[in-house]
Amino acid sequence: MSLLVVGSMAFDAIETPFGKSDKIIGGAGTYIAWSASNFTTPIKQISVVGGDFPQSELDALIARGVDMEGVQIKKDEKTFFWSGRYHMDMNTRDTLDTQLNVLENFQPVVPDSYQDCEFVMLGNLAPALQKSVIMQMKTRPKLIVMDTMNFWMEIALDDLKDLLTMVDVLLVNDSEARELSGEYSLVKAANKILTMGPKFLIIKKGEHGALLFHQNHVFFAPALPLEDVFDPTGAGDTFAGGFIGHIARTKDISFENMKTAIIMGSALASFCVEKFGTQRLTEITKEEVDARLEEFVQLVNFDIDLV
Ligand code: AMP
Repeated sequence: MSLLVVGSMAFDAIETPFGKSDKIIGGAGTYIAWSASNFTTPIKQISVVGGDFPQSELDALIARGVDMEGVQIKKDEKTFFWSGRYHMDMNTRDTLDTQLNVLENFQPVVPDSYQDCEFVMLGNLAPALQKSVIMQMKTRPKLIVMDTMNFWMEIALDDLKDLLTMVDVLLVNDSEARELSGEYSLVKAANKILTMGPKFLIIKKGEHGALLFHQNHVFFAPALPLEDVFDPTGAGDTFAGGFIGHIARTKDISFENMKTAIIMGSALASFCVEKFGTQRLTEITKEEVDARLEEFVQLVNFDIDLV
């Protein structure tokens, strides 16, 4: 019983007010796999790369317990490329370039050996591709989590709405929640989105933490205040990987366990932003993860005497 992850594996080029990266390894699927592998293995990965994607990067993920049978390698084509520039607040960014390359004609194929996956993480991709993965699963997984972005709301809204009826958890950031619902208040936005299909909604608010909505329950988890944020790219995907990784490890899909999963996601995301690209995620140890979880506990721990 394992975790199925679908998402882009990419080259990124990133500019922040504090520095600029060359072409580095990125992609939603890459970040999710690195992050989730701290909690559960095997991870059964579905993606596509070109012949230019370094074998050493695939090998590093394989060594972490990531199964690559579902990753197509198109030898004569180029890997997906994305480039972005962050504003001074590091919470907002502009996309400078998107070259779909191998993603343009990507048809995900779920191998037979992936059919036992009880947990599915649909990383940010065209909603029709995310749906195709669900449709290929012969048994309905126990939990399907999906991420998306405003780009798909603008060009594939009908597909997105169709997919929303098939998933359990939707992950979006605050501006995406507002765009999808047409509501400014995040509480009203959440109530509306929860009528569109998902039973749980997570709204990520960058350095301001994340909210989990379910029926009439709300839970808030802060982000760890960090002295230096070098590169927020992939923080959302890393959060998603920590969240689904914890759920897949514990096999508990209750609201209470999702609260813990959100803290796991937030802790992993706090590492991701400390260096460019996936680098920090490749270095962290269990001791570091545990220490950071303890910092989260201390961050929100207080006593109160009601008079
Ligand atoms: P995040 O910062 O968590 O929103 O994710 C950033 C990652 O998403 C980058 O590594 C990109 O390679 C990837 N990405 C950006 N745009 C797309 C897209 N349209 N489809 C798939 N992946 C994308």
